[in-house]
Amino acid sequence: MELEGKRVALGVTGGIAAYKAAEITRLLVREGATVRVAMSEAATHFVAPMTFQALSGNRVHTDPWDTDGNGMAHIRFSREADVLLIAPASADFLAKAANGIADSLLTTLTLARDCPLLVAPAMNRQMWNHPATRRNVAVLSGDAVGLLGPASGELACGETGEGRMLEPPEIVEEVIAHFQPKLLGGRKVLVTAGPTFEAIDPVRGITNLSSGRMGLAVARAAREAGAEVTLVCGPVSLPAPRGVTRIDVTAAREMRAAVMRRLAGQEVFIAVAAVSDYRPRTVSDQKIKKDGDPPSIELVENPDILAEVAALPRPPLCVGFAAETRNLDEYAQKKRRAKKIPLIVGNLIADGLGGEASTLVLFDDDGRHALEPAPKLALARQLMARVAALLEH
Ligand code: C5P
Repeated sequence: MELEGKRVALGVTGGIAAYKAAEITRLLVREGATVRVAMSEAATHFVAPMTFQALSGNRVHTDPWDTDGNGMAHIRFSREADVLLIAPASADFLAKAANGIADSLLTTLTLARDCPLLVAPAMNRQMWNHPATRRNVAVLSGDAVGLLGPASGELACGETGEGRMLEPPEIVEEVIAHFQPKLLGGRKVLVTAGPTFEAIDPVRGITNLSSGRMGLAVARAAREAGAEVTLVCGPVSLPAPRGVTRIDVTAAREMRAAVMRRLAGQEVFIAVAAVSDYRPRTVSDQKIKKDGDPPSIELVENPDILAEVAALPRPPLCVGFAAETRNLDEYAQKKRRAKKIPLIVGNLIADGLGGEASTLVLFDDDGRHALEPAPKLALARQLMARVAALLEH
């Protein structure tokens, strides 16, 4: 539960995407948030307030003249919230919010709020690209309003383009990110993740059981902490976190090339990928047939990406991972020294590979810091705190 104890005020404006706000409510509640919903009059034509009442377990506000006992419903609404999320946010709402217009319940409570505002726009592509909307969005960004999306894609009007509201799980991921401390605000972070695949022939190869989950969690935690994140990913079937630039590669040498191409300006390099140490010297261009003696495969060493980056004249802060089946402390410390990196994260393979949770031990100049067993995202956030502290050194 990522939003335990958080109070989210959800404002729903009129648009066909309003039906997705019901799912947003459900997901926020599932993450432990207390959700209170206010709807514009137009929104009630798309979804009945009763839907939100049932999903949030709280009374839904729709009427600007509702006195709510003391006549100050629009003031109290945001006083009792940690964030105000408007989803969907119509073009009309953005225009009013940008100009401080308070002519309805939603616009009034937006103006009267004393908590951060996040908006998830949803509208036709021409409305989104209209100079007036562009101006309004720029004003809102300047006022520190968080803009969630929109995405590009199929629109309810039948057209295709920019203006589609983010999907409910994406919006909830953004709300979760909003609450994380911005320890790496504005920093550039490069992450490698997943296994590599070293071809033997067109259908076979050498790989390993890395799922990519730890690397994806690190990329997500870095982005939540405010970093600009590039993720170089081996063959991983999981989706990348939101707001991260993902580059897919297959073999170690491709991963190396992708890392080197994007290294300029990076302040942190976190090598989570389980890079294959060896690759076949030659790759058969035809499928190897089962006739005669079993073939022998000659292996050659792959480049050590992390060691190479760490050996550059002005390297970014380099963080390595060491997955071991035994002697974790000894092997991890040895790797840290061999690769000349300030921080290495050790984990015993029985604890972490492929699963959602893991046990990690951080090794740096100050020694050994064992983290409590936890989900990979929670561990990745603790790692970001350590990285931020090292950057401050
Ligand atoms: O030497 P070993 O593979 O165990 O070291 C693990 C660390 O080094 C990980 O951080 C991994 O991402 C990185 N590494 C690398 N390139 C390699 C091998 C490992 O970047 N060829």
